[in-house]
Amino acid sequence: MDAEEFRRRGKEMVDYVADYLEKIEERPVYPDVEPGYLRQLIPTEAPEEPESYEDVMRDVERVIMPGVTHWHSPNFFAYFPTATSYPSMLADILCGAIGCIGFSWAASPACTELETVMMDWLGKMLKLPDCFLAGTDGHGGGVIQSTASEATLVALLAARCKAVKRVQSINPELSEAEIFSKLVAYTSEQAHSSVERAGLIGGVMMKQVPTDYNYSLRGTLLQKMIEEDKAAGLVPFFLCATLGTTSCCSFDNLQELGPICNEQNMWMHVDAAYAGSSFICPEFRPLLNGIELADSFNFNPHKWLLINFDCSAMWVKKRTDIIGAFKLEPFYLKHDNQESGLITDYRHWQIPLGRRFRSLKMWFVFRTYGIKKMQDLIRKHVALAKEFESLVRADKRFEICAEVVLGLVCFRIKGSNELNQALLKRITKSREIHLVPCQLSGQFVLRFCICARLTESHHVQKAWQHITQLTFELLQEPIN
Ligand SMILES: *Cc1c(COP(=O)(O)O)cnc(C)c1O
Repeated sequence: MDAEEFRRRGKEMVDYVADYLEKIEERPVYPDVEPGYLRQLIPTEAPEEPESYEDVMRDVERVIMPGVTHWHSPNFFAYFPTATSYPSMLADILCGAIGCIGFSWAASPACTELETVMMDWLGKMLKLPDCFLAGTDGHGGGVIQSTASEATLVALLAARCKAVKRVQSINPELSEAEIFSKLVAYTSEQAHSSVERAGLIGGVMMKQVPTDYNYSLRGTLLQKMIEEDKAAGLVPFFLCATLGTTSCCSFDNLQELGPICNEQNMWMHVDAAYAGSSFICPEFRPLLNGIELADSFNFNPHKWLLINFDCSAMWVKKRTDIIGAFKLEPFYLKHDNQESGLITDYRHWQIPLGRRFRSLKMWFVFRTYGIKKMQDLIRKHVALAKEFESLVRADKRFEICAEVVLGLVCFRIKGSNELNQALLKRITKSREIHLVPCQLSGQFVLRFCICARLTESHHVQKAWQHITQLTFELLQEPIN
C-alpha cells in the first residue's frame, strides 16, 4: 500500500468506524459463536501472494464482527467500562505514524516530555497532593503504564527492593533470598485478582485481609494481622488498598490504613482502576481523601476517561524508589543528556523496555473535551446507575447488595443463588444486554455497570424491563 492508497483507505476506514459506532445498537451485544468458530472461517496458513485490501475488509464483517462482544454498545453493562472517543482514536493513528519507542528521553523527547506534563495535568485534575507531581524539579511524578496490573506489580517490586535494603541495613548477614521468604504483603479480600498475581510474580506472600460489612478494608483488622505476622518473624512491607473494588465498587479506608503503613515502614499502593476517573468531579474527590499517605497511586483513564486502552496512570511520591529498583544502564541505551537531572528515562519506571506515545491520546482528549465535558460523562453515568438502582428498589422481588456510589449497581433476586444464576443465564442467552456476576458474602450477585459513552436513560429502562420480563418467566416455572 502506498501513500496514495493509504489516503483513500484511511478515509474509508474512518467511515467504517463511524458507521460501526453509530449503528452499534443494531448488533447483538454478545456474540452467538462457539469456541473455535474462527479457525474454520479462514485459511490455515498466511497467503503466499498479496491479497486485495477489499478482500480483507470484506472479511471483517464475515469473520471478525460475528465474534465481537460489543463493549461500546449502549446495551453493554458488564465488567467495568473501557473508554473510547473519537479524539482518542485519532491520536492513536498519529501515535502509530510516529511509531517511536520512547524508552529514554533521547529516543523521542516529545514522547517523554508530553507524558510527564500530561500526568501532571491529570494529577491536578484529581487534586493529587503536589508531592505526586513532577513539576520541573519534583521528587514525585507520573508514568503511563499499560494496565493497573502492571502498576501494582511495579509498586510491589519497588517496595520489595526498599524493604530488602531496610532489613539488610539492620541485619547485614541476611541474604536477599532469606529476606524475600519473610516478606509479607496485604490486600483486601475484595481486591482485584491482579494484586494476588503481583504477589505470585514478585515471589512474596500476599495475605488477604477481611473487610467490614461495607466490603471496606479497615485499620483495626490490618493492624491485627501485622502484629501477628511480626510476632511470627515475618516482615510486613506492602499494602495494596483499593478505591472502587471490581466486584462491588467498595472503598478501603485510606485514612485508617495510611498511618499504619507509614508507621510500619510499609509501602501503600492505591488501586483505583475504575473509580479514579470520577475524582475529577469535586463531589467524588472526597473518596480519594487520605491519598497523601500513599506511596503510589494508580487508575485507568482507559476505563472511564474517554481514552482508549491502553492508558493506566500511575504516580509515585518518590521517583527514586521506583527508578532505584529497576535501573540498568547498558551502553547502547546511554545518551548525552541523561546526567542533567531534568531527564526522565521512562524505561526505569516500567517492566518492558518499549513504550508507545500514549500521552498523545491524553492531550487530544483533555483539550477537545475539556475537564467540564469529562465531568459531564462521569456524572451522567452515575445518574444512570442511580436510576437503575431506584428501579430495582421499587421491585419487591429484588434487593440491592452494595451501596451504589458510582456507575455500578449490584443486585439480585431475593432467593437462592441458583435462581440468580438461572436469571443471568437467560440474560446472557437472550443477547439483548450483557452483564457479569460477582460474589458478595457467599451470594451470587448480578453486576449492572453503566459502561458505554452512548448509554442513555431509555437503554437503562429497557434493560430493566428485559430483566423483569425474564424474571417473571423464570418465577412462573415450577421449581425443579
Ligand atoms: C479493572 C481493574 C483492574 C485491572 O485493570 P488492568 O488495567 O486490566 O490491569 C485492577 N484493579 C481494579 C480495582 C480494577 O477494577
